[in-house]
Amino acid sequence: MSKRVLVSGGAGYIGSHVTVELIQAGYEVLVADDMSNCDLTCFEGVKKITGREDIPFVKMSFCDEAATEKLFSDWKIDAVIHFAAFKAVGESVEDPLKYYGNNLNSFVNVIGAARRHGCRNILFSSSATVYGEPDKQPVTEQTPRKPSTSPYGNTKQICEDILRDCVAAYPEIRGIALRYFNPIGAHPSALIGELPRGVPNNLVPYITQTAAGRRECLNIFGNDYPTPDGTCLRDFIDIVDLARAHVCAVARMLDDKMEKEYEIFNVGTGRPLSVMELVNAFQKVNNLKLNYKIVPRRAGDIIAIWADPTLANEKLGWKATRTTEETLAAAWAWEKHLMGKN
Ligand code: UDP
Repeated sequence: MSKRVLVSGGAGYIGSHVTVELIQAGYEVLVADDMSNCDLTCFEGVKKITGREDIPFVKMSFCDEAATEKLFSDWKIDAVIHFAAFKAVGESVEDPLKYYGNNLNSFVNVIGAARRHGCRNILFSSSATVYGEPDKQPVTEQTPRKPSTSPYGNTKQICEDILRDCVAAYPEIRGIALRYFNPIGAHPSALIGELPRGVPNNLVPYITQTAAGRRECLNIFGNDYPTPDGTCLRDFIDIVDLARAHVCAVARMLDDKMEKEYEIFNVGTGRPLSVMELVNAFQKVNNLKLNYKIVPRRAGDIIAIWADPTLANEKLGWKATRTTEETLAAAWAWEKHLMGKN
């Protein structure tokens, strides 16, 4: 019998891509989402890509302890991947209680219910934001975490600590935290992708919306940083590659391959790319001209960060495979798919 993986926040950007990869790897998936920051577009896309009309979907919030408990008693769940969280950095500064309340309570409820119902394996979606502005590049999992500059970032650190402490205290569970660098792009089918509400905060959705004429001009935040071309450096990781890292991590847990009860892996390419290089690559691969201008730095931006993904390469047997060009072509195809729908 195939194992069942609960994907909390499974209707969102990362969750939907992970659901596809899990199903294609032979797992049963149970999707749960409160739909607070997405609609059914991606879930419908997941069904089309996988040809599976029968993927179970539960609309619920993991902040609801009773609903979480019920989910785990209604279904036999072998592993849970926890994505359900708010993710807007700026909003988290304006309304920290919204972020601490949602992101921490939901995770506490998930771990509690998992333990009580014999679900040993918990995968948490963390972020390279925990490294802050690193002193040394690339960052390894041993690179010290820095105090967070936003409540959002802080929830990622605290959730990592919650998982670490629970795994240490409760022998019936074990956990993996994946630290994502900058996930971008969309599924090559163009049936699922990022669906930002309102004005996008992130670079690639802003680029694709500008190319689509939905935004007038891309603002590039600063070209006076101490980097080769003056713009920030990031490790942009293709969303499908990122999703596959989750399949490898779930397999490591379910196949009893973990070396410690709590493990952390960076999920990145290991290649730094500047904001300007990314913009140029987008124009070139999609054969279009983007309206952009250089504006002052955005408060709180990290100058440069990229991953050392060696640990994930070796222990998870995972490696980023997609080229920046493929990724940016997919991002544009997804935006065009959305244009066709409107
Ligand atoms: N960026 C930009 N214009 C935008 C959005 C982002 O120049 O409209 C830059 C931002 O300053 C940062 C990089 O793109 O250097 C990545 O930003 P994003 O918000 O996508 O991710 P972050 O690394 O901040 O989590």
